[in-house]
Amino acid sequence: MKLKSLFTIVLCLSAIATFAQKAAKIPFRFATRAEAQMLITDIDEYTRGWNQFDINVRLQTEQGRKSKLLAFAMNQTLNWSDKDKERITKSISALDAEIKRQKLTLNFKKELVFIKTTMKEEGNASAYTRSNWIAIGENALNTMNDTDLTSLIAHEICHILTRSSLDFKKAAYKIIGFTVMDREILFPADIIEKRISNPDINRYDSYVNVTVNGQKQNCTMMLYTDSAYNAGKTLFDYIKVGLIPLGENFTPVQQNGKTVIYSIGQASDFFNQVGKNTDYILNPEEIIADNFAFLLTGKKELQSPEIIEKLRKLLQQNNKN
Ligand SMILES: [Zn+2]
Repeated sequence: MKLKSLFTIVLCLSAIATFAQKAAKIPFRFATRAEAQMLITDIDEYTRGWNQFDINVRLQTEQGRKSKLLAFAMNQTLNWSDKDKERITKSISALDAEIKRQKLTLNFKKELVFIKTTMKEEGNASAYTRSNWIAIGENALNTMNDTDLTSLIAHEICHILTRSSLDFKKAAYKIIGFTVMDREILFPADIIEKRISNPDINRYDSYVNVTVNGQKQNCTMMLYTDSAYNAGKTLFDYIKVGLIPLGENFTPVQQNGKTVIYSIGQASDFFNQVGKNTDYILNPEEIIADNFAFLLTGKKELQSPEIIEKLRKLLQQNNKN
């Protein structure tokens, strides 16, 4: 009896091990609208980081309140249709096949959770992520073809992976010339007020060494606005991409009490670092996510194929861990 049960246990364990190997697939599920409402109103690094501009531009009002924005976001969640679920499942299957073909290993700490929204809470973006969930916009689902939807999902998956593993984030950012620190950069109040928060970024911890005015400098990337919210303009109308030079102890450099911000154009060798595969250069997080999507969708004729090659090697190395 004892022996038999031991045998059963061994059999079960080996069955589990076989399952784990076979299940080298992207783990995912769809949230109900009720669950989506809970997830979207969660207080996390992203919602804690909102400044007045973040709230105003998303609510399209000059006197926004955080509680109003959370309620607004909650009201943007939608129910899935069978067709939506079918399309996303098909995209994930296409990515699973490509991961298997290229012998990549993606280390998911948790299963991915998909939610559907109108995207009004994020200035009509196509999709975004927080925690281990991906929000997909109804417009993206209604208008994108299968290839573009698969690429979009791959891009979002990359955000989840960098968020869940600092080691992966460090190794991936290194490919595009960025160093990720163990701690976050502390920003002065003037830039915190101008920052445009991106839900895909929950830690501001990276910098790149570039040449500005003939001098090599460590700079961190940030989205910001140089004007206050005024009616009629939406989130993406305000976005400016800045490079903030870091001084001693990786503290942002200030001049006359203001944080110094360079444009990308002022850094003469920026593209030598990040490559030219994508023009979606809002942040290293977005640059690496686009390259990740290109790798997982086998995009051809890219200007910087060496970046894709290095990313592939990194994801193949994961096999050995
Ligand atoms: Zn993104």
